[in-house]
Amino acid sequence: MNAKVWLVGAGPGDPELLTLKAVRALREADVVLIDDLVNPQVLEHCLDVRVITVGKRGGCRSTPQDFIHRLMLRYTRQGKCVVRLKGGDPCIFGRGGEEALWLRERGVDVELVNGITAGLAGATNCDIPLTLRGVSRGVTLVTAHTQDDSSLNWRALAEGGTTLVVYMGVAKLEEIRQQLLNAGMVADMPVAMIENASLPQQRECRSTLARMHWDAQAFALKSPAILVIGSVAAAAQAACIAVPASA
Ligand code: SAH
Repeated sequence: MNAKVWLVGAGPGDPELLTLKAVRALREADVVLIDDLVNPQVLEHCLDVRVITVGKRGGCRSTPQDFIHRLMLRYTRQGKCVVRLKGGDPCIFGRGGEEALWLRERGVDVELVNGITAGLAGATNCDIPLTLRGVSRGVTLVTAHTQDDSSLNWRALAEGGTTLVVYMGVAKLEEIRQQLLNAGMVADMPVAMIENASLPQQRECRSTLARMHWDAQAFALKSPAILVIGSVAAAAQAACIAVPASA
């Protein structure tokens, strides 16, 4: 019996960004549970498989997480190899950690497989290096959306000197802008807003902290999108940011 759950990151959308390990898991799968943000083209790697859509728009509105947990458990108890396919990386705002824990507590064999997270892909596809010698010495990934409405430590984010990558931020642009300004981030801090990163329909909107909500509105920015906030997000940064030779 090869009963097992692979918690697999499908990457941000471009099917070529799938890892070889993800491809192997898809080949072995009897059942694939697929999230909304996964590009269905990656299913071409499956052989004989049952595909179940379990995203928010997938028709399991009531207690979806519990439903997904139980579905995975049921199939593994039938001896099936299950692939739980998630957008980006399973453990970056993807509930991979909690699903793995829930399944392991019930004796299920679980393996996590990285995917390229949307923040990395979005930045790279817009030629934004998230770290850059002499400019940005780190990256902070945050979500603007929390279940419990707990607040981010905006001051730490504004003063930390790292590039900020914000997930699930489209509906919260005004709040993000105001909080970072209040926390002392400079008004002309460059911002890049990247929609549908890595897909043919990718769009990018360059702005500044002060103007980002207006520019996003004019651009009709829609989810899924990530925000990159920091000096590295300057429009023609590759050409314009002087990298100190000694850095
Ligand atoms: N696990 C995923 C994130 C899931 S949270 C990952 O690692 O990428 C969902 C959020 O991810 C979206 O609201 C959006 O902010 C971001 N996202 C996912 N796919 C995206 C894409 N192709 N382009 C831009 N943002 C994306």
